[in-house]
Amino acid sequence: MVGSGVKSVSFYVNGQWTKPAGRGTLPVSNPATGEVLAEVPLANSADVDHCVQTAHEGYLKWRDVPVVDRVQVLYRYKALLEAHVTELAEILTAENGKTLDDAKAEVRRGIQMVEVSCGMPSLMMGDSLNDVAAGIDCKTIRQPIGVCVGVTPFNFPAMVPMWMYPFAIAAGNAFILKPSEHVPLTPSFAMDLLHEAGLPAGVMNVLHGDRDTVDALLHHPTVKAISFVGSTPVAKYIYASAAAEGKRVQALGGAKNHLVVCPDANLPKTVDGIIASAFGAAGERCLAGSVLVCVGGVAEPLLDLLIERVRNMNIGDGSRPGTDMGPLITTEHAGRVAGHIQRGISEGAVPLTDGRSLRTSIGSYFVGPTILDHAHPDMSIACDEIFGPVLTVLRVDTLDEAIEIVNRSRFGNASVIFTDSGSAAREYSSRVEAGMVGINIGVAAPMAFFPFAGWKQSFFGDLHAHGKDAVSFYTEQKVIMSRWF
Ligand code: NAD
Repeated sequence: MVGSGVKSVSFYVNGQWTKPAGRGTLPVSNPATGEVLAEVPLANSADVDHCVQTAHEGYLKWRDVPVVDRVQVLYRYKALLEAHVTELAEILTAENGKTLDDAKAEVRRGIQMVEVSCGMPSLMMGDSLNDVAAGIDCKTIRQPIGVCVGVTPFNFPAMVPMWMYPFAIAAGNAFILKPSEHVPLTPSFAMDLLHEAGLPAGVMNVLHGDRDTVDALLHHPTVKAISFVGSTPVAKYIYASAAAEGKRVQALGGAKNHLVVCPDANLPKTVDGIIASAFGAAGERCLAGSVLVCVGGVAEPLLDLLIERVRNMNIGDGSRPGTDMGPLITTEHAGRVAGHIQRGISEGAVPLTDGRSLRTSIGSYFVGPTILDHAHPDMSIACDEIFGPVLTVLRVDTLDEAIEIVNRSRFGNASVIFTDSGSAAREYSSRVEAGMVGINIGVAAPMAFFPFAGWKQSFFGDLHAHGKDAVSFYTEQKVIMSRWF
């Protein structure tokens, strides 16, 4: 699929790929080479309305299919995904830029979501109690809610949509996915496989587009629930708009994650964890560590080791074996990341490594791993999401000070401590205001059966993505009281 000319992407509606009416197209580029891979169409409100209507018809039939039969499609889908991991990962690397190993790991994480969703027959069971009063029994059942929508970001084009649709359709809903316009090819290929698995028409749909497409979905009266993953300003907007219309909503936003290193930490292992967290996927992860908080005297030995490792990193085209880090998603985004670095230096931070030179030596999509030392907690590089391979270093005397800095952040996605002390780890995980905590783990990504539990401005809603929360999000509870004469 990759490298055979410019593709035209279609919508998948009512069980088939359809020619979009649309509002024109946008180019999809390979960020490692700048090559245009595809043209992605932008759905207009008529496309959205047609898709929602047919999805609703699909839902009315699908909800009556027994859950044990519904999950058979997902078992077949899992097998097809397993058989096509490499092909999916190659498409993902071509349009997103992350390395092939990262892309394969992402696809595997997505497959785990499908596996967990296959457990829907027991996951969506209700409760019951006989004789709640004389001769009266009570039970709860979970029913699907209707047409659900997912709006997803560019950085995980396989996995993040799979946080949503396998759970939603296993529970008996219809789903419309609106992937990021930067990465439409991975979800299209995943949709091909779901089609091949035998999902009935209308149950799963893929529409491409931008903000106007999202607005048309958001305000459509037949859409019952919205799952969003992306930046905080858009997450807030989606949350407020959906809630104002009485729709169910979960909106996952941006992040600024701290990596706190105590003096007793195992330094070589800590450096492994920091590199994976701060520079893996070029820092374009919502779990990326972007502020390194060095406690006591750990900064000097830690940074010496870290810089040596960073200088040996191999930056380039993620599809080539041996590449440690690929490009950023667009040349504009790389420019914004370079701007953050410049601002940090102007405000007084000291660059230990500065990746901006790669923009001229390799290409405008690239920024190399950058470490900015002696920053102050109030600087923009210590507070704002950069979403690139930039690590801001703060130095503090005590763990208390570190926790105070972490808790001052307006974000609360993930937070990590590296230490050998059980009591420091326990204290940290109990007091820190972040929804996902790593202890000697640089990327604290919960598995599919746990929730993706961001806090503060990293999440708007009540029920998080995947795990048991997803079952609750995509079902409505009904309480049935019965008495028989
Ligand atoms: P983005 O917010 O720009 O776009 C996300 C989606 O929203 C896309 O499908 C896009 O088409 C749509 N969109 C963009 N602007 C919109 C608007 N004004 N109205 C309605 N829809 C709009 O995010 P991105 O750049 O694709 O992804 C990066 C962001 O996602 C980062 O902030 C990152 O932290 C966040 N993210 C968060 C998580 C999480 O779990 N919390 C996971 C992955 C990424």
